[in-house]
Amino acid sequence: MSQLVLVAGDVIFREGDPGTCAYMVEFGEVEISTDGGTRLLSKLGPGDLFGEVAILDGGVRTATAVATGDTLLTTVAGEDLANRLANSDPVVVHLMKTVIRRQIRQSRGDVDTGLSASLTDRALLELRREREIREALERREFEAFFQPIVGLEDRVLRGYEALVRWRRSDGTLVSPADFLPVAERNNRIREIDLQILHQACRAAVDCLRRSPRAAASDLFVTVNFAPLHFRDHAIVDELQRALTATGLPARRLKVELTETALLESSDATISVINGIRALGVRVCLDDFGTGYSSLGYLHRFPIDTLKIDRSFVLAMMNGERGRKLLVAVLDMARALGFDTVVEGIEDEPVAVVLAKMGCALGQGYLFGRPMERSRMLASHRSL
Ligand code: C2E
Ligand code: CA
Ligand code: CA
Repeated sequence: MSQLVLVAGDVIFREGDPGTCAYMVEFGEVEISTDGGTRLLSKLGPGDLFGEVAILDGGVRTATAVATGDTLLTTVAGEDLANRLANSDPVVVHLMKTVIRRQIRQSRGDVDTGLSASLTDRALLELRREREIREALERREFEAFFQPIVGLEDRVLRGYEALVRWRRSDGTLVSPADFLPVAERNNRIREIDLQILHQACRAAVDCLRRSPRAAASDLFVTVNFAPLHFRDHAIVDELQRALTATGLPARRLKVELTETALLESSDATISVINGIRALGVRVCLDDFGTGYSSLGYLHRFPIDTLKIDRSFVLAMMNGERGRKLLVAVLDMARALGFDTVVEGIEDEPVAVVLAKMGCALGQGYLFGRPMERSRMLASHRSL
């Protein structure tokens, strides 16, 4: 995806040209015409999509598109559209083609396109975010922050979770919730996760070099991997590459996956997890208690650590019965050989109760917020 800046009279494409991409008007106006520009079909403005039919149908342009004033367009490559269509539900694709054809028929009669403003606004926003994410990856603006994970009994640091932040060129920090969903939809998440993986391994090595106490301990770093990694064995090689490039021992690295990765579970998923563990890297199931997970079904997966979600713990701590259930969950996790971490611990009383219940590790604002690498390293100098 890229942007095109045009002035009045600039031709975007002509009848008979091959269709290589579609366009979204961000600003300005575009006229679509046929018969050598003599027959005006429609005038398009901000939010309108055009040029997509030649791509959908694999044909040539059947009209000419010209900017009528200062105009800004976002281009969507045909290949990109084809990939999106290949990953879409066939019913949605059919509906989309029908809507587009109807839109064209209507526009030939110069009738309103019939596409709702909110739909085009959302599409435009998505395209803009995608472009920004691609540029941010090139400029290496994604940055790993580190949140401590401590022993609940002794409060000693045991490891860090690496959490991505987007540091924009103006210095503002963007939370993952504001860009990960788009990055997941267009597969950029793969590059983001790999950049964070390398940063996390490098930071852990720096930390071990700096602090003899950390080096003597079992200090680990854990990274979050999106579900799609677990469908592709190539991720095992990527992990090996990160370990080799940074010199981090495999036993000091953990990978967190969410249940979504397991729900789509196939032999391939299990084989990827086995491949990761064969490297000596441990695997942690994140957000336990927020989905459909039951310990019964978890025994099928070769997992080392269960990370119990904050909401699950808070719900369980409400009353004696809930407390007993939580004890039972922790006991069963132990019996199945999982380590347990509770995340999102904000209050001292919760930490004390969890420690009494036998939960080994904890993470949350009570022990420390996610911090940038330099602060994390500085905290080791003072140890
Ligand atoms: P998560 O993996 O469950 O990470 C824990 C989230 O809880 C983090 O939010 C963390 O800042 C927040 N948190 C930590 N302690 C507390 C606490 O005491 N109370 C409360 N209320 N929240 C706490 P964050 O950093 O905004 O990350 C959100 C989610 O984005 C993560 O949830 C994870 O699913 C995803 N994510 C973060 N970094 C990455 C990454 O590098 N790759 C991928 N694929 N996903 C990531
Ligand atoms: Ca996590
Ligand atoms: Ca979590």
